[in-house]
Amino acid sequence: MKIGFIGTGTMGRPMLANLVKTGFDVAAYDIVPAALEAAASLGAARAASIRDAAAGCDLVITMLPSSANVEAAYLSAGGIIEGAEPGRLCVDMSTVDPGTSQRVSARLKERRIRFIDAPVSGGVGGAEAGTLAIMVGGDAGDLEEARPVLAAMGSNIIHVGAVGAGEVAKLCNNLISGSALIAVAEAFRIGEAYGVDAQVLTNVIAKSSGGTWVMEHMHPVPGIVGSAASSRQYAPGFMTDLMAKDLALAVNAAREKRVPVFVAPAAQQLYRLASSHGLGREDFSAVYKFLKSSNDDAPV
Ligand code: NAD
Repeated sequence: MKIGFIGTGTMGRPMLANLVKTGFDVAAYDIVPAALEAAASLGAARAASIRDAAAGCDLVITMLPSSANVEAAYLSAGGIIEGAEPGRLCVDMSTVDPGTSQRVSARLKERRIRFIDAPVSGGVGGAEAGTLAIMVGGDAGDLEEARPVLAAMGSNIIHVGAVGAGEVAKLCNNLISGSALIAVAEAFRIGEAYGVDAQVLTNVIAKSSGGTWVMEHMHPVPGIVGSAASSRQYAPGFMTDLMAKDLALAVNAAREKRVPVFVAPAAQQLYRLASSHGLGREDFSAVYKFLKSSNDDAPV
């Protein structure tokens, strides 16, 4: 099977590597030459454009930063809509607004091109190990067609519902992980201010009701979890800007359906603020550094 893979950045590159390892024939395209070069060094053929990557392949995968990127890659002149043949299946694995997935799917349908959304969780580690969680929105038959390809990249493939439902599940997940990381960072700042050792506090919380996946795997205090971004100068991992984007998507999705949300908008603002202080391209756990940079002597 021939796969067109568009967007070979932080996540796309290791995902593509697993497709090549499994034996799929992959044509890659990325707008950044270095990212395309990296994909080629893994064994992918270089496509000259988005349309070129989509043309003549059996399945198209996109792994792009934002809703605007995805909409443009599929629908603009020279996009997938012009390259993919009628009847082909497209799988968008980016984290985007569910409305974007639905709009793109509807426009592709006019040309008999099929679409499913399949965002992922598990970070770069999961992408490298091929153990991503993949949440799928779309037709069950389309998922079955894509399943052997998805199985090369992930170990938990869950059909959530119709097109856009995979994105809804992803936004709900990141609303929780993004908010929880801030709660962990705030708790550890308080602990430090009172002279409580961060390792001891971790041991306590890990055995108590505050224990959470983000503390276990993405501890924001350097040196506690060796594999966490905080222990390697907050190199991403998952960038602060992407978490701010995902929380904004979650808040917008909530507003769209008139669901009241309080924690998510506050968390989103904090990530935006951290970004405006130069931490946007560092891992989202660097929000701890941002909290730490506040003035300890300011009046309470
Ligand atoms: P990234 O910015 O590292 O990679 C995206 C790639 O897309 C870049 O190489 C960029 O050059 C390329 N690109 C952008 N516009 C393009 C275009 N028009 N044509 C071709 N290529 C284009 O981002 P990432 O971390 O790989 O994330 C990709 C998506 O996956 C995002 O939606 C993100 O929210 C989601 N995600 C990321 C992680 C993570 O840990 N990094 C985890 C889960 C989900």
